[in-house]
Amino acid sequence: MKKITYAALVLGATLSHGVYAQNNEVNIICSGQAPWCSMVAVTFEKSQGIKVNMTLKGSGEAVAQLTAERANPKTDIWYGGTGDPHMVAAEQNLTQEYKSPMLPKLYDWAQKQAEQSGYKTVGIYSGPLGFGYNTELLAKKKLPIPKTWGDLLKPEYKGEIQSANPSSSGTAYTMIATLVQLMGEDKAFDYLAKLHKNISTYARSGVGPIKAVARGEASVSISFVHDGPGEKAQGFPLETITPSDGTGAEIGSMSIVRGARNLEAAKKFYDWALTANSQALGAATLQFQLPSNRDTKVDPRVPDFKKIKMINYDYAKYGQAAERKRLIQRWEKEVSNLPR
Ligand code: PLP
Repeated sequence: MKKITYAALVLGATLSHGVYAQNNEVNIICSGQAPWCSMVAVTFEKSQGIKVNMTLKGSGEAVAQLTAERANPKTDIWYGGTGDPHMVAAEQNLTQEYKSPMLPKLYDWAQKQAEQSGYKTVGIYSGPLGFGYNTELLAKKKLPIPKTWGDLLKPEYKGEIQSANPSSSGTAYTMIATLVQLMGEDKAFDYLAKLHKNISTYARSGVGPIKAVARGEASVSISFVHDGPGEKAQGFPLETITPSDGTGAEIGSMSIVRGARNLEAAKKFYDWALTANSQALGAATLQFQLPSNRDTKVDPRVPDFKKIKMINYDYAKYGQAAERKRLIQRWEKEVSNLPR
């Protein structure tokens, strides 16, 4: 009898030690820019005493990784990246429901993202899609600033434009979904095929094109315009513009992985990531998305949605797994293999 009690005690101690050890770290995929991801990891680790293991992946790559890990998840939290693939992950049960006590602090658009996913994801920031351009290169090449989507098709921009690849990049998928909503699907694909002639490279990551433009490797990018001020602040001759015929926006999101081994630590991170203080780390690292917590101080460099012609982006529809897959496959079949 004594022995059993002792064995039970030892087992209990081992288990509680195991649980403690488990929730003393958290494995995060971060789909934002590296300086922000690092700052978030270091600040959370220092303030909460929970070790962060972080890897950086584009939004499309992140959902592919979660799919590959489904039977044996190594990731606890997927932080940042465009909302559509987070919605896809929710629909495919790769992520799990969590109703954070912080939800009422968030703007309606961020809460709606949570509701529409059955609380399997939540909005952490938002930002509009547009164009980045290198002021010096445009002047040197005597090229006008593109003001509409149609302008990008002009022959003088041949080889001057960079976009990203929609299978790895959420930014590029946001572009396709925006054009489909703006023009209708067939016209949008006709547009993308014509645009292809002017594209020099489809970058793997969504921020690749605006960085290339900032550094003079291309004249124009199709990018989130909140990525512009950060490049400009580093001294690059970069400006951004949103197309006057209308554009879409992302709802950057965050999700807890189904089967997360460090669930308690993941929830702590999730709640913390929705606080105003942690969201202020974005602007502190020159990231100028609109934060989802209403109390986060908004840096004047954050794009002002009121001044931009926005479409009413259907996040539920374009976050459907089948729709995303179909549109990306159509792009691969009808656009990416075309000669330039
Ligand atoms: N970096 C920034 C600043 C973003 O706003 C986003 C979108 O959420 C990403 C990266 C995601 O990049 P990708 O298009 O490679 O998925």
